[in-house]
Amino acid sequence: MELGHFVGGKMIAGQSGRFADVFNPATGKVEKTVALATKAEVRAAVENAKAAQPGWAAVNPQRRARVIMEFVRLLHRDMDKLAEALSREHGKTFPDAKGDIIRGLEVAEFCIGAPHLLKGEFSEGVGPGIDIYSVRQPLGVVAGITPFNFPAMIPMWKFCPAIAAGNAFILKPSERAPSVPLMLAALMQEAGLPDGILNVVNGDKEAVDAILDDTDICAVGFVGSTAIAEYIYTRGCAAGKRVQCFGGAKNHMVIAPDADLDQVADALIGAGYGAAGERCMAISVAVPIGKDTADRLLERLIPRVEKLKVGPYTSETVDFGPLVTADAKRRVLGLVDKGIAEGASLVVDGRGFSLQGYEDGFFVGPCLFDNVKPDMEIYKAEIFGPVLSIVRADTYEEALDLPMKHEYGNGVAIFTRDGDTARDFASRVNVGMVGINVPIPVPLAHYTFGGWKRSGFGDLNQFGADSFRFYTKTKTITSRWPSGVKEGASFVIPTM
Ligand code: NAD
Repeated sequence: MELGHFVGGKMIAGQSGRFADVFNPATGKVEKTVALATKAEVRAAVENAKAAQPGWAAVNPQRRARVIMEFVRLLHRDMDKLAEALSREHGKTFPDAKGDIIRGLEVAEFCIGAPHLLKGEFSEGVGPGIDIYSVRQPLGVVAGITPFNFPAMIPMWKFCPAIAAGNAFILKPSERAPSVPLMLAALMQEAGLPDGILNVVNGDKEAVDAILDDTDICAVGFVGSTAIAEYIYTRGCAAGKRVQCFGGAKNHMVIAPDADLDQVADALIGAGYGAAGERCMAISVAVPIGKDTADRLLERLIPRVEKLKVGPYTSETVDFGPLVTADAKRRVLGLVDKGIAEGASLVVDGRGFSLQGYEDGFFVGPCLFDNVKPDMEIYKAEIFGPVLSIVRADTYEEALDLPMKHEYGNGVAIFTRDGDTARDFASRVNVGMVGINVPIPVPLAHYTFGGWKRSGFGDLNQFGADSFRFYTKTKTITSRWPSGVKEGASFVIPTM
């Protein structure tokens, strides 16, 4: 099957003659190909969006919100179909694929509040007969470039607020998981969105560069690896666009000696190995404080890691699935080998994992490292696989120092029973999202999502009120309705 693009309200075939393979990661087989757009194809989508946008911006915000409301209903109607398509291309389990859709749907629900979120400010009588007020207006045509690991959630984080605010949108999803973004666009259309307001252009670097260089695209929201995030931020800003880019991560969990270690071990299993570790908020480093805490933790962790069930999404008993591609598998196994060579202790070795009937799938069994040190590559790099590293710390300050000094600052967690320690940690740590006895602190849709340091470029977060700020510009109007008092011309700057 060949996947094309969604432009001007309909699916269209690609014209470039260039395609990428789309795998079922559990079987290792190519099930589809996806067209890779040329610059001209991106431009055609922009033309469609540009023509449609003023009409959409003129629709009142309540009516725009009703389209999103209907979209939410359709997401519920098609939940199983979407989750199946998502698992099939990504490899994550079926319940986890539903979670991917639901965390996007929650942002759609938040965007139903667009009429409220788009309200401006008003000050009456700031001078004689003078009122001042501000309004939020859409930017025009905006774009989103998204990663493979949340093919439903992240596109929705981008296009729902942008469209609710009155913009037209160009989505360039990951070429590794393109089916669900196309299905989402079709659902928005079915929900009543006019043609040309949501366009999906599949592609690779050529399509991305075309978006960055297109002078009609006013803003770009990106999520993906840090190297690409930095590239897109730099090039997009140089082209005069508003840009926000969210990058990679290395999320630590600090474990105080007073923590409930059974709870910690369970939390680490879910947060470290869920979705095969292919989550930007996965916990990949556990930092127990003190030797006794570390030893007691390992006692609980090792049997749990060894019991993890790895397999295809079609099995209901599976804890996590394969990695997304053969390249991803090779990279993760290479990093595990490197960790051993650097002197870390691999206490659970998942490298040899193989499943009967799925020998060509991109599976890696769960790996657990102890005695990892901050100068090792497995500590510095985002592994993005089912590999958890334990870095032992002697003191609380030493533990806090690890996430503080790491180049990434997406998420972090502390497990403790002591409120004072938790409060101190949350206040001092230089990371964007903090969990206290919560391993994956992804904020809800009415807050915002964004990492610090090299996990985030730009000054506004994703979803929540920030997303409406990002996709609108403020206009401030000072108005005077003279009350009949006529004065001569004034040459002095007015002061109130
Ligand atoms: P990626 O950087 O490889 O790809 C992301 C997007 O960029 C895709 O649409 C891809 O087509 C495009 N792209 C890839 N190479 C490019 C190039 N050379 N030039 C221009 N565009 C290019 O990321 P991925 O592997 O799809 O996703 C995993 C990464 O995303 C991880 O690093 C993960 O931490 C990160 N991520 C971050 C967040 C967050 O909010 N911080 C959320 C999810 C994923």
